[in-house]
Amino acid sequence: MPTIPRTHRLDFLEGELKELYAQGFVWKPRILEGEQRARARFDGKEVVNLSSNNYLGLTNHPKLREAAKRAIDQYGAGAGAVRPIAGTMTLHKQLEEKLARFKGVEATLVFQSGFAANLGTIQALVGKGDAIYSEELNHGSIIDGCRLSGAEILKWPHRNVEALRQLCKESRHKYRRALLVTDAVFSMDGDIAPLTELAEIAEEFDLIFMVDDAHASGVLGRAGRGSADHFGLHGRVDVQMGTLSKALGAMGGYIAGSKPLIEFLIQKARPWLLSTAHPPAVVAAAIASVEVLESSEGEQLVKKLWENAHYFKQELKRLGFNTGASETPITPVIVGSSHNAKQLAKRLFEEGVFAQEIVFPMVARDKARVRTIVTAMHTKEDLDFALNALKRVGRELELI
Ligand SMILES: *Cc1c(COP(=O)(O)O)cnc(C)c1O
Repeated sequence: MPTIPRTHRLDFLEGELKELYAQGFVWKPRILEGEQRARARFDGKEVVNLSSNNYLGLTNHPKLREAAKRAIDQYGAGAGAVRPIAGTMTLHKQLEEKLARFKGVEATLVFQSGFAANLGTIQALVGKGDAIYSEELNHGSIIDGCRLSGAEILKWPHRNVEALRQLCKESRHKYRRALLVTDAVFSMDGDIAPLTELAEIAEEFDLIFMVDDAHASGVLGRAGRGSADHFGLHGRVDVQMGTLSKALGAMGGYIAGSKPLIEFLIQKARPWLLSTAHPPAVVAAAIASVEVLESSEGEQLVKKLWENAHYFKQELKRLGFNTGASETPITPVIVGSSHNAKQLAKRLFEEGVFAQEIVFPMVARDKARVRTIVTAMHTKEDLDFALNALKRVGRELELI
C-alpha cells in the first residue's frame, strides 16, 4: 500500500518521543491473547500473571458472561444516548439500586469509568474559593479532577495525618468549602490510608470526605464492600467512589452517598452528562458481579484472595525482598534504580512470570519496583512458580 501523505505540522512529536525514549520511560503494552487469567498468554508466552486487577477472577465468571450475552439479546449492543437524555435504561437503574443496597447508602450513580467518576465528582463539588486537601500519592484521575475544579489544591504527605492536621489548622479558615480526598488503597505501594483518623480530621475541620475505592472495591470490607465497611466508617465518608472495572470484572465507576449528593451529580457531573451511557452488556455484567459478591461464593473468593496475598507477601519477605508498607494483594518488590526494576521485570518474563516494572516518574527515582498483584484465582502452584522465579532472578541480579 502506498504511504498516505501527511503534513509536517506534527513532526515535532518525533523529537518529543526521542526524548521520552532517552529518559527511559515509554509504554510498550504487552498483548494479552485470550482471557485475563492467573495463567495467561502475553506476547505469545504463557506466564503466571501478576499484573492484572482481576482480583476475584470475575472477568471470566460464567454468571457475568451469561448476563452480558442475555443483555445483548434483550437490549442491543449500545445505549445510544447519554444518560440524562435517553440513555438511562432499566438496567442502569437496577445496577444503581443494587449497588446502593450492597454499599448500605441512600443512593449511587454509575459512571462509564472510575476515572470519569473521580473527574466529574470532584469538579462538581468544589470550585474557585474552595480548597482540596489531596494526599500526595492520589491517583491521576483525582489529580485531574482537582485541577479541573479550579479549587486551591493543598497536598499533604503520604499517610501523614499530623501533617494534614497542621495544614488544616493553618489554611482551612481561608476557604469556603473544602474537600478531603484520598485513595483507600494506594495502587503503587499496596498500603491503606488511615481512614479512621482522616474521618476525624474531616469532622474537626468541616471537610467533605471523599475516598477512592478503586483497589478496595471487591477487596476490602465484608464480601468486598469497600474501605468504609472495612474500617466501620458507615455514615462518616461523604463520597465513596468505587470501580466496577477491577475486582468486579466489568467496567465502570460509581459514586455512593446521600440522595442529595447523587441528585446534584446528575445535574453537574460532566462525564456523566456528556458521554454516552454504558452498553447493556457491561451493565448486566456489573449487576451479576454484585450478585456473585452478595452470595456465599463472594465471601469465599475474597477470603481466598487474602489468603493468597498473605502467603505471597510473607514468602517474598522471607526471600529477603523489600515489600515496603504493603498490606493488600498489591505487593511491590522495591529494588531501587529504574535499571534494576527493568532488568528484574524482563528476566522474570523470560522465566514465565509477568509483573510490571514501575519506575520514575510513576514512583520516586530510588524507589523503582516490580509490582506484583495476586488474585483469588492463583493456585498455590502458580504462586510457588512465581516465587521460585523471583528467587532465582533476584539472586542472579544480586537483589537478594
Ligand atoms: C484504576 C483506578 C481508577 C480508575 O478506575 P477505572 O474504572 O479503571 O477508570 C481510579 N482511581 C484509582 C486509585 C485507580 O487505581
